[in-house]
Amino acid sequence: AQDSRKLGVAVCGLGKLSTDQIAPALMKTKHCRLAGIVTGTPAKAEAWKAKYGIPANSVYSYDTMQRMADNPDIDIVYVVTPNALHAQHTIQAARAGKHVFCEKPMEISVERCQQMIDACRDAKRLLGTAYRCQYDPHHLECIRLVREQVFGKPTILQAGFAIDVGPADQWRLKRELAGGGALMDVGIYALQATRYLTGEEPILVSAVETKTDPVKFAEVDESIVWTTKFPSGVVAYCSTSYKAGRIQNLRVNAENGWFELDPAFFYDGNHGRRSDGKEIRFPEIDLFAAEMDDFAQCILEGRPTKVPGEEGQRDVRILQAIYESVRSGRAVSL
Ligand code: NDP
Repeated sequence: AQDSRKLGVAVCGLGKLSTDQIAPALMKTKHCRLAGIVTGTPAKAEAWKAKYGIPANSVYSYDTMQRMADNPDIDIVYVVTPNALHAQHTIQAARAGKHVFCEKPMEISVERCQQMIDACRDAKRLLGTAYRCQYDPHHLECIRLVREQVFGKPTILQAGFAIDVGPADQWRLKRELAGGGALMDVGIYALQATRYLTGEEPILVSAVETKTDPVKFAEVDESIVWTTKFPSGVVAYCSTSYKAGRIQNLRVNAENGWFELDPAFFYDGNHGRRSDGKEIRFPEIDLFAAEMDDFAQCILEGRPTKVPGEEGQRDVRILQAIYESVRSGRAVSL
């Protein structure tokens, strides 16, 4: 009986994130269950069917997704393909009458994000962006500290996320599939954080790029540092890279003190400290399970999600402004 309250999720794109994080998380969710898959790789279909007991009629390819319309066992499609395929897969899912939860970045252009929003609105289905940090108790605590002005008004924010991207022969380094490099992939977390911490939208961005390996990073950005100004006067300075080594931080300087997370953006282990000596540390939760359960509850209760398509689109618009600033060498107003 409990299962009947669980919404069926079809995972679309069975890569690293789906295999290592999303499928295991779906085993822990209260309101979701792994009900189907969409894949272009038959061998993965066989492995997932065997491992998770997925019935043959809930296995799709990217070309047969429209047939989901006849499958009442699937309520939600979780799109986990390369960035520039998100619109295509979201729109197909919406047209098949499914709600869509989509990985970040939502897409590679504002226009494509709009097409996704339109498709889900036309189908009367919910569209969510997989911003897991908005479910991390450490980030929620930082938001509380700002909102309640525990250390007074924020003055200067700092946020950075860099990873070693790994081998050169992957979609993340191809413009056509990724839309951009480190900024689109991990810099987006720093940008998101500055927006949900301030609760404001940036009015000005200014950015500088550096490329130390122009062969590997011929098509996408390697490292970018940017600043943003918010309407209240708060400013943020942020960094992202595929090569700069470990950057994993979020810090709020305020009138009467400061607080920070480091590490800030991992799947687990995030924690931090405050200028009054207290720690910011909460018990671990599975962020992927938390975000999927919340999305399912929004559907079940008919309420909006705090991470709608519009939220994903806002970030893509600002990311594009950051790229424009890199190209023009000037600050860009938003
Ligand atoms: P992977 O490369 O590991 O997996 C992507 C999968 O997409 C592939 O395995 C493949 O699955 C499918 N796919 C379909 N078409 C293509 C194509 N033309 N080229 C390559 N793959 C294709 O990527 P990740 O799992 O790391 O990332 C997927 C998405 O998730 C991205 O948007 C990324 O930004 C996001 N992500 C989010 C994270 C988070 O913390 N929220 C962390 C990591 C990634 P199949 O063989 O089944 O068709």
